[in-house]
Amino acid sequence: MIKVTKNIALVAHDSKKPNLVKWCHENIEILKKHKLTTTGTTGTLIEKELGLKVTKFISGPLGGDQQIGAKISEGKIDLLIFFWDPLESMPHDPDVKALLRLATVWNIPLACNQTSADFLISSPLMDQEYERDLEHLERYKKDRKVLVSNS
Ligand code: PGA
Repeated sequence: MIKVTKNIALVAHDSKKPNLVKWCHENIEILKKHKLTTTGTTGTLIEKELGLKVTKFISGPLGGDQQIGAKISEGKIDLLIFFWDPLESMPHDPDVKALLRLATVWNIPLACNQTSADFLISSPLMDQEYERDLEHLERYKKDRKVLVSNS
């Protein structure tokens, strides 16, 4: 089996940060093998509590979610663990929605709660190369070209 390093994005809303830190503790041996990218406060906590090295963006409400979204659209994030809070509205709700949308557009594995994160992290695909199906994006790009060439 080929061993590969994935780039895992980790984000948690404030009320979910303790859950994410606990989940990271439980999965530290796996997480150590991969690259971690986070929003600002989530990353600072993970570094402090777990001693893991992460690439941190700015805080989510200041644009960190958008920065992770941009990395997804550049093909630089392999999976997203996003413990968002479904019981609170956030000042940056549009950014949260945008991040969830981009993860879906780019067909990356996305876990929004601990159970999904458990299933994802224990998948045999974590240790393998995996080519995401991006056929729908190729079709979209082709349609845009037709639109331009017909104008
Ligand atoms: P934070 O951002 O890690 O800086 O708290 C997370 C978010 O609220 O999107």
